[in-house]
Amino acid sequence: MLITPLQLEKESLVFEEAIPAGVLEYAPDITQVGPLPVTGRADLIVEHRGHREQVADIRLRAAYEGSFELLCARCVEPVPTPLKGNFDLIFRPQAADAEAGERSITPDETEIGYYEESGLSLEDVVREQVLLSLPSRTLCKEDCKGLCPRCGQNLNLEPCNCTPTADPKWSALAGLASTVKSS
Ligand SMILES: [Zn+2]
Ligand SMILES: [Zn+2]
Repeated sequence: MLITPLQLEKESLVFEEAIPAGVLEYAPDITQVGPLPVTGRADLIVEHRGHREQVADIRLRAAYEGSFELLCARCVEPVPTPLKGNFDLIFRPQAADAEAGERSITPDETEIGYYEESGLSLEDVVREQVLLSLPSRTLCKEDCKGLCPRCGQNLNLEPCNCTPTADPKWSALAGLASTVKSS
């Protein structure tokens, strides 16, 4: 859905959308499962910049809640993860600040985004917000054993043959021996 200032001139746009799975490409380790409902509203905010210059900003407030699959950081299996969030953001036409140059950027304006001439894409904003909301690390379970670094076997399913069940003391010694040898 593209939102343009023209649409908002007379009244706010209140929307209830569902972004189908597969429409948005998030990142290699995240997949949207099923449609992602997004509800919210868009308002026009006209900035007056003197010299009768007006900038048509779009304020977008919305909430989303949907099902995703993230990859376990250790075993790389997909982990069902519900994600939800809401945001309240201001978007300015890209051209407005290109002409004004750097001086219009003040520290409290860093949250301002930009929209292209064709309009503001709701999907693009949601995609970015979803990515920002991701947990820093996902595990399928707290004690996930991960993959064998040698053969790639998922050690949650079964142990592989290349992990010797040696006493940690001996493996520490073996490690020491190999460093002595290689030096
Ligand atoms: Zn795992
Ligand atoms: Zn192995």
